[in-house]
Amino acid sequence: MIPPIASRFVAGETPAAAFDHVRETNEEGVKVILNLLGEHYDNRAEADQDTATYVQLIRDIGGTDLDACVSVKPSQIGLDAGGDVFRENFRAVVEAGDHHDVFVWCDMEDYTTTDVTLDAFEELAREFEGGVGLCVQANLKRTREDLERLVDVPGKIRLVKGAYAEPREVAYKDKSEVDAAYREYLEYMFEQFDGGIAVGSHDPAMIDLAVDLHEEYGTDFEIQMLMGVREDAQRELAADGYEIWQYAPYGDKWFSYFYRRVRERKENALFALRAVVGQ
Ligand code: FAD
Repeated sequence: MIPPIASRFVAGETPAAAFDHVRETNEEGVKVILNLLGEHYDNRAEADQDTATYVQLIRDIGGTDLDACVSVKPSQIGLDAGGDVFRENFRAVVEAGDHHDVFVWCDMEDYTTTDVTLDAFEELAREFEGGVGLCVQANLKRTREDLERLVDVPGKIRLVKGAYAEPREVAYKDKSEVDAAYREYLEYMFEQFDGGIAVGSHDPAMIDLAVDLHEEYGTDFEIQMLMGVREDAQRELAADGYEIWQYAPYGDKWFSYFYRRVRERKENALFALRAVVGQ
């Protein structure tokens, strides 16, 4: 069972618990992106198993009126077991999404996976128009060129700052450089894309910028934030009429995800400490 300390960031261990979370969150006007926790499977059996779980999850979402979709990680559905395994499994998830009218996002992992992930996304996005989205990272220097490639590809693009420790040759390392790149890429997207922009950030400055860019260019966008992070802002923005999606992980492999959230910010660590000492 997930201890209360981790349940701020993780929507439960089972699909039933995750669905309860979706229902409660939808009632607050916030839509939910479900992510089954798991990554870096180097054997095909585990990758196939999580793929099958996603297909079932999509069927279950499709049978409800919940505002929910899914987001998969390439190394969870076979990338470390071989590019072909990833492409086959990604296709199976997107086909299920297409069949049950459930949107499928693909997370982006470290820079060594960008090419294969982009190629697989582009192929599926062209085939299953409007049913699939991809995350791109502002800390990678290549992202401007990737966005130019993605302009004419149907589907949605989620811009995040980037969560992986990348080498200096390929990535901006200083926060100010990453923020500047995020602003530049966001502006490019609002100027050039027809819509389908997802602002994957908790940063009020980036959200304000997106609102300004929307006023300037009229391009549709949504905002995505993680479960357990700035949830008040998620509800307030939804009440103001913005489309808000909360990325909510679930599953029994919750520990490393929770540990990452606690390490990345002082206030999350304080929250964890307070929970432990019962304050
Ligand atoms: P930061 O620069 O971390 O923070 C900026 C400001 O946001 C802070 O100054 C503060 O005002 C506010 N803020 C941030 N965190 C908190 C908090 N805990 N409490 C209160 N205020 C806070 N990364 C990937 O590499 N690949 C992915 O596929 C991916 N998918 C993601 C999907 C979603 C929906 C989101 C939200 C993030 C995803 N990320 C992904 C992670 C992302 O790359 C960043 O590491 C993470 O979002 C932190 O960056 P930030 O934009 O929130 O801003």
